[in-house]
Amino acid sequence: MIDISNVTKTYIMGEMELQVLKGISLKVEEGDFTSIIGPSGSGKSTLMNILGCLDLPTTGQYHLDGKEISTYSEDALAMIRNEKIGFVFQKFNLLPKLNAYENVELPLVYRGVKQKERKGRVEEVLESVGLFGRMDHRPSELSGGQQQRVAIARALVGNPAVLLGDEPTGNLDSKSSEEVMSIIEKLNVDGKTIILITHDNEVAERAKKQITIRDGLIMDRKVI
Ligand code: ADP
Ligand code: MG
Repeated sequence: MIDISNVTKTYIMGEMELQVLKGISLKVEEGDFTSIIGPSGSGKSTLMNILGCLDLPTTGQYHLDGKEISTYSEDALAMIRNEKIGFVFQKFNLLPKLNAYENVELPLVYRGVKQKERKGRVEEVLESVGLFGRMDHRPSELSGGQQQRVAIARALVGNPAVLLGDEPTGNLDSKSSEEVMSIIEKLNVDGKTIILITHDNEVAERAKKQITIRDGLIMDRKVI
């Protein structure tokens, strides 16, 4: 599904160049649960942005479902992102004035899905993260763990091929973190492909494959 090889990323800021990824090769198959672990500043979010087609590599290849990403137009890439990838971030990025239902519904509204179809789907994903009974609560009326579960529901509502999480438990206490991780694990058991970026070893160990990155390079790969 995902096949990147020799990917580098260099940020250019004025006269300064910073090479953050120094040649990363990585394959993700359908149904995989892969964690990418590394210290702060090692290039994890940069890699996640590339995996999620939010940014392009400076050099190297990225084949998604067999096709090189750099051959797509901006618009085509945006479509791919919408259709294939669900994102979850450390900060939940929910809209504060919308309730849980409306936050989860939004991607379907943008896609032009009819209201009747939206309702069934939104309720189904809220149910799957255990928040059916909280759908009329705004983010400020939910705990951190509940907010992240809303964010997961929003990421899943369009049924993406892969769920990409960038430190999804980074802002959570251990109990909420456990709730979120058990939802992610269950999603994978049900067949969803998951890529999880973390600096937390306990979280990384929940995956089936673990990749360690340091200073822009893969230092270790293991199957758990
Ligand atoms: P991690 O997620 O592992 O903490 P990042 O990928 O966010 O690491 O960052 C790696 C390095 O790249 C850091 O030194 C960071 O300051 C730098 N960096 C990240 N994004 C940008 C950007 N858009 N422009 C310039 N430098 C960046
Ligand atoms: Mg990061």
